[in-house]
Parts: sequence; structure tokens; C-alpha cells
Amino acid sequence: MTNNKLITGKTKLLGVIGYPVEHSLSPAMHNAAIANLGLDYVYLPFPIAPQNLEIAIAGFAAIDVVGFNVTIPHKQAIMPLLSKITPVAQAIGAVNTVSRQNNQWVGTNTDIEGFIAPLQTTYQQDWTQKVAVILGNGGAARAVVAGCHQLGFAKIHVVGRNVQRLQEFGNSWNNSSISENLQVHQWEELSKLIPQVNLLVNTTPIGMYPKVHESPLSVEEIANLPKGAIAYDLIYIPKPTQFLEQAEKQGAIAIDGLEMLVQQGVAALKIWLQQEIVPVEVMRQALQKHLGLG
Ligand code: NAP
Repeated sequence: MTNNKLITGKTKLLGVIGYPVEHSLSPAMHNAAIANLGLDYVYLPFPIAPQNLEIAIAGFAAIDVVGFNVTIPHKQAIMPLLSKITPVAQAIGAVNTVSRQNNQWVGTNTDIEGFIAPLQTTYQQDWTQKVAVILGNGGAARAVVAGCHQLGFAKIHVVGRNVQRLQEFGNSWNNSSISENLQVHQWEELSKLIPQVNLLVNTTPIGMYPKVHESPLSVEEIANLPKGAIAYDLIYIPKPTQFLEQAEKQGAIAIDGLEMLVQQGVAALKIWLQQEIVPVEVMRQALQKHLGLG
């Protein structure tokens, strides 16, 4: 823990805003990195109710906060309060990382980098002939779609259960080149998509605690998963989820959500500290310990 850190008049502030924010894993991860680097920073959780967002951000500027993460429910609401938003965050339509640059707030989204990192480092390959199927059409699915597009996937299929929200999700990419490779499908069409999938990503909460015995795929659907396909679950606890356990038995390669969580944090810390070297392994271990996995 970092409770022996000496806070001085020079200590610089980082943090995470959300509501609620008490379950955030980011303080443990970032404070471990800060301690390891021996830097005079501290990373704090800030519970900010939606109606206080604007005043809180003005206050952050007044007290010289260096940067902060943004979590639910502020990821979209923060956007009009920022001076600049990177193209990546604009494409996703959400900001998870804000930094103070030249007295202005700049927003970006590091979830894409987080999502892509384990695909690039562990299973580096040419994705341009590959098919991705994404389960769910919520906030995280937006980063996954943008990430798959960045990797060059030939086809990106998004499967959802609510027709209206699914259509809105599909239409939201109409002004982007992403729409050329993107198709949305209702859940009933999933069984047709499974046999052609190279990367199958679960962005739904199905399989999370307490419903740890649930899987987004039926037994029949899992049986049709091609051997060597990559099954990627954004959920990081339990480890493995029912979905990943079934997929591995079927000969698929499993990736859980922990590395995405680590790597989105790594990317954010690099921005705030303006340095390329951050202690990734320390951050990974801090999260694992916090989640009872280490
Ligand atoms: P979200 O915005 O609420 O989206 C959840 C999506 O799942 C929605 O499309 C929802 O459909 C769908 N869904 C929920 N229950 C379903 C069910 N029983 N059957 C079919 N579809 C269902 O949530 P989010 O922010 O995208 O997060 C989704 C998951 O990703 C969470 O488990 C979260 O912990 C995880 N996550 C992990 C990371 C990481 O770094 N590893 C980062 C972000 C998120 P409707 O629209 O019809 O409700």
C-alpha cells in the first residue's frame, strides 16, 4: 500500500472521477506505479455527482490537477467541458483520460490501446482477412469496434439484444470509415456467425459475479467455435469466466479483461507523466493483488 507516502506542498495530483467511484481499481494500480517510480504524485478517487461535474472540473483546473481518469457516468458528459478531444475519443464518443496541457483540458480514450495491446503483443498476426464478432453494443463495445477497425479486420459484426439500441449503435458510425466493415445483428443470428469467427469478444456483463456460471454462448454455439479462434472476454473476474473456460476446451485461445485494464492505465500514465517508461508489471501485479488473483 502507499499509505506511507509523504505528501508535501509539491505533491502533484492525479485521480479518477466517477459516481460511485469507491470500487475503482485505478488508485491501487496507479499509486503502485508512482511509488515504484519514486515520483511525488498521488492518485485519488473523486466521487462527483453528475450535477457537480462542471464545477468539479473548474476546481481541478484551479488546484492544478495534472490529469484524471473518467468513469461511469461521466465518460460522455465530460466531453463538452474539454478544450480538445483526440480523434480516437471522438470516434468512440467517450473520454476515459483527461490531461492538462497548456492550461487546457485534453480528453482522449485509452480503452482502444488497452483492448488492442494483448492482441498485438501475444498473438501478433495479420488481421486484414479476419472476422471479428462482438457481443454487446454498450460503452465498451465502442472501444472494441474502433480497436478492431484499427487492427484492420475485414469484417466486424456486432451482436445485440435490443433492436433499437443496436440500430442506433450501427448508425452512430455512419460518418466514419468504420461503417464500411461494420454490420449489426440481432442475437438470433449469432449461431450463423460463430463458424466464421476469428476473434469473438464478449463485451456484455454475462458471466460476471454473482452469475459466474452464465455464458453469452449456448453449448451449441460454443461447439461451433473454430479451433484457433481467439475468445476475448472483457470481464476480468472471475478468472477464467465460463465463456473463456468453454472456449479454451473447444481449442480457442483465451484472453481475459485484466490486460485491457492494465494497458488502458499504462497508456494514461504515459500521457500524464509524459514519459514512455512506466512499470507495467508493477501495475499488473497491483491489480492482481487487489482482485485477489495474485
Ligand atoms: P454497458 O455500456 O452497460 O453495455 C453492456 C452491453 O451488454 C449492452 O449492449 C447490453 O445490452 C448488453 N447486455 C447486458 N446484459 C445482457 C444480456 N443478459 N444478454 C445480452 N446482452 C446483454 O457496459 P460497458 O461499460 O460496455 O461494460 C461491459 C462489460 O465490459 C462489463 O462487464 C465491464 O466490466 C467490462 N469492461 C471491461 C473493461 C476492461 O478494461 N477489461 C473496460 C470496460 C468494460 P442492452 O443495451 O440491451 O442493455
